Amino acid sequence: MSVVVQKFGGSSVADVPKLEAVAERVATTRATGLDVVVVISAMGKTTDELLALAHQIDESPPRRELDMLVTTGERISMALLSMAIQKRGCDAISFTGSQSGIITNDRHFDARIIEVRPWRLEDELARGRVVIVAGYQGMSYRREITTLGRGGSDTTAIALAAALGAERAEIYSDVDGVYSADPRVVPDARHLPELTYAQMQEMAEAGAKVLNSTAVEFARRSRIAIHARATFKPGRETVVHEDAAYDATPAVVGRKDLARLDVAASELPAALAEIEALGLSVRESTVDPDRARLWIARGVDWAAARAALGARGALEDGLGAVSVVAPQLAGRPRVMAEAMAALASAGATPRQVSTAPLRWSALVPEAAVDDAVRALHDALAPSA
Ligand code: ASP
Ligand code: MG
Repeated sequence: MSVVVQKFGGSSVADVPKLEAVAERVATTRATGLDVVVVISAMGKTTDELLALAHQIDESPPRRELDMLVTTGERISMALLSMAIQKRGCDAISFTGSQSGIITNDRHFDARIIEVRPWRLEDELARGRVVIVAGYQGMSYRREITTLGRGGSDTTAIALAAALGAERAEIYSDVDGVYSADPRVVPDARHLPELTYAQMQEMAEAGAKVLNSTAVEFARRSRIAIHARATFKPGRETVVHEDAAYDATPAVVGRKDLARLDVAASELPAALAEIEALGLSVRESTVDPDRARLWIARGVDWAAARAALGARGALEDGLGAVSVVAPQLAGRPRVMAEAMAALASAGATPRQVSTAPLRWSALVPEAAVDDAVRALHDALAPSA
């Protein structure tokens, strides 16, 4: 029997009528004879609301308790979706991440999946049931409840697809796939029908929210094709797979969650150890004989982290990055020159620039990111 994994994001289940529409679609897919595993996100902005509640109590809440809190979001949607599917005469059962055998390392709030033991899901599929799994959560090998980082339901979907030998993973959201820039920022961005894993992974790492970067990494490893589609607007999709057709047009991506730490090179090992202990990630770094500059993604307990890092060197907050992602970019320095010129004319001259084989990134003030994305897209990927 062929298994398909369908993941629905928070906007697809934002209210009961939408949830019922998702239930209808799942029941229809099941009726075609496929075994269906549904991975579901928390309804609408639930996760943000739960985090806001926690932050009313403590600026840097204990991460374990954050996980206990935010995992309730997906538990609500999974139970409601199961009810809505069963109401349609289709047998269904919901499971939390831990019940589904999703085993993670022991980091709270940004855990990594280390193993999936999907036997319970397989049993239920064999009974003919639709299986609904709460996205974004798992259980550590110490039996603690963990979460997989924001947008982590995608990762759940791909990890399950791999463990169950699924044909494909369908990721449903409010956009019909991946564009040459975020269509909310660049309304005439181009729809991209297909992308390689490498391109998509660079875009996700650079800040594209449409697919989670860990999910793409898992898909790449297991060769699971990702079909990114709009829940309520059938038609177009973006397929992420290994043999996507070559398309030289750059995509432009922004992120608004960075800070830069400037430390004496002799301080670098201690600063890196501190960053690791704080659970933060270094996005880019340049190290000269005397100074090191690190781009750091602001994490969930940023207030505390900021104070700790500020004591080590000069910390500049409120930054973001704009990135150009294109095949063979490293071999096209002219594109980089055009990007620099476009940013300068948009009044967003980069603080620092970094180059990778498929990506060129510029550090700019957070407030300039959207304008910078538009300027780069106009210059490098003008619409037909
Ligand atoms: N609900 C979680 C979040 O908002 C996970 C997800 O949506 O994938 O980040
Ligand atoms: Mg969500």
